[in-house]
Amino acid sequence: MERRTAQGRSTGTGHGESVNLGRATDRRTAPGRGAGPGPGTASASSAPLPERAEVVIVGGGVLGASIAFHLAEAGVGGVLLLERDRPAAGSSGKPIGGVRAQFSDPLNIRIGRRSLEAWRAFGERPGADIGFESVGYLFLLGDATERALFEEGVAAQNALGVPSRIIGPAAAAALCPYLDPDGFVAAAYCPAGGYALPREAVTGYLRAAARYGADIRTHCPVTAIDTRDGALDAVRTPRGTVRTTTVVCCAGAWSAEVGAMAGVRLPVTPLRRQIAFTGPLDTPPPRIPFTLDFASTAYFHNDGAGGLLLGMSDPRQEPGFGREFSREWLEPFRAAVGRRAPALATMPARHGWAGLYETTPDNNALIGEAADVPRFLYATGFSGHGFLQAPAVGELVRDLYLGREPFLDVGPLAATRFDGRPAGTGEEGNVGHHGARPEAHVI
Ligand SMILES: Cc1cc2nc3c(=O)[nH]c(=O)nc-3n(C[C@H](O)[C@H](O)[C@H](O)COP(=O)(O)OP(=O)(O)OC[C@H]3O[C@@H](n4cnc5c(N)ncnc54)[C@H](O)[C@@H]3O)c2cc1C
Repeated sequence: MERRTAQGRSTGTGHGESVNLGRATDRRTAPGRGAGPGPGTASASSAPLPERAEVVIVGGGVLGASIAFHLAEAGVGGVLLLERDRPAAGSSGKPIGGVRAQFSDPLNIRIGRRSLEAWRAFGERPGADIGFESVGYLFLLGDATERALFEEGVAAQNALGVPSRIIGPAAAAALCPYLDPDGFVAAAYCPAGGYALPREAVTGYLRAAARYGADIRTHCPVTAIDTRDGALDAVRTPRGTVRTTTVVCCAGAWSAEVGAMAGVRLPVTPLRRQIAFTGPLDTPPPRIPFTLDFASTAYFHNDGAGGLLLGMSDPRQEPGFGREFSREWLEPFRAAVGRRAPALATMPARHGWAGLYETTPDNNALIGEAADVPRFLYATGFSGHGFLQAPAVGELVRDLYLGREPFLDVGPLAATRFDGRPAGTGEEGNVGHHGARPEAHVI
């Protein structure tokens, strides 16, 4: 029997609690508050782990939660989700997350579009309020090259039913009055996008998954994965060993480590990303789209509490697992946003939140089944668009597990695309049968 062990970075307590699936309380924005599912009707906290599970999902972020829901809803018995901390303890703890279908890669457009429909209907299925605000998404374009890139994107999006369009600076400023129309040449706008509350989505999915019979355990880190004769055999935790023949890795930025436990290479690199909140403003902001400057990645939108959320990718950020909030990125943010929306350059940044982008070499997700370890499934490496893709990816992984015809072929997103091995035929393939598929509309 093979046994590979994690190098001890887990933060779990080892108590193996069943998740508290009570009423979620914290609706918006305050970082560090209410990251758990909230107080309420806790189920037994010290029940022993089952000896056996049909499927073990590693990670209780939005991807793991969505997959648990979709599997359990489809009637799969013996679904066990193991989260080393509490639900949404990783990147899915972001206070507000953007949802959109404006991408360059047709796969992402289709995943984004299908997910938007699911976010909109979340109140009915699985049945929770995720505060979805369909404010639209507005990419600001600084020159003709950017405009040409987004014209291509809009054509691909329109062909797949996404109602995006290129608009002029004046029309963009009418949507977002902070903008200086002389500061950019055009914008790509889609009214269908917006934002929602990731922690509420995690809780909503987990509660529904539990209603369908899934077993959700928090504070229960997976520390090793055993294989026998090349097949999955068990996952190990400080609370005991669970025999299983299927593992789904949804460990976000920590996925490389979990993959390595089973001998599977998942090229996911952690990269800190930060956001800040103005707090309630004296002059409350108008309702504006999720507005981004494509070149600099500086972005802002309403925070739902009378202020604005501010964000940007700091090009100086080195990879690593650090998640402390710091302020040095606000300087380049202010410089960049000042060129497009001068009033925002002097906005206060009263508090903030830091999390990890789980990046891959081409900024596209890894979704599939390991080539050399059958039934090791993975959905990770979303490179900053994992929240918005979670509903459709939950469906896709359910169908991979059940051997059903999925709504799209995810072969081109296999992790093997980076080691020169075939990655599916790819009905949407724009890069042939294997190789990286760079997503251009990343922020
Ligand atoms: C600042 C910032 C802004 C973002 N903005 C957006 C946005 O606007 N729109 C969007 O779509 N996305 C956005 N993202 C990205 C998005 O948050 C992520 O892609 C998404 O949350 C990933 O979800 P996940 O479930 O894969 O990972 P996570 O939420 O990180 O969950 C992984 C879980 O696995 C657990 N885990 C790890 N190792 C183990 C183990 N050994 N055993 C058990 N459990 C384990 C972790 O504790 C964690 O809870 C943003 C991210 C950041 C940081």
